[in-house]
Amino acid sequence: MSVSGSCEICVTGEVRHTCRRCGKLVCSKHFDEETGLCVECLSEVDGSRDRTTGEDPPDGVDTYRF
Ligand SMILES: [Zn+2]
Ligand SMILES: [Zn+2]
Repeated sequence: MSVSGSCEICVTGEVRHTCRRCGKLVCSKHFDEETGLCVECLSEVDGSRDRTTGEDPPDGVDTYRF
C-alpha cells in the first residue's frame, strides 16, 4: 500500500487535495475547492447547513434567488 497516489474515494484518481475536515486524500473530482472539503464531508456539511441558521426567514422570501 503506498501512502500517496490514489484518491481515497474513487481509488483511481490521482491525489490532488487533502480534505481539511477529515484529512482524506482525494482527486480533484472528489474535492470541492470552494470549501476545501472532500465530497463526503461536503454532503454532510451541506445537509446540515439550513439547520444552522437559527433564524426564521421572513415571510414571502420563498422566491428569493440570485
Ligand atoms: Zn476521486
Ligand atoms: Zn472529508
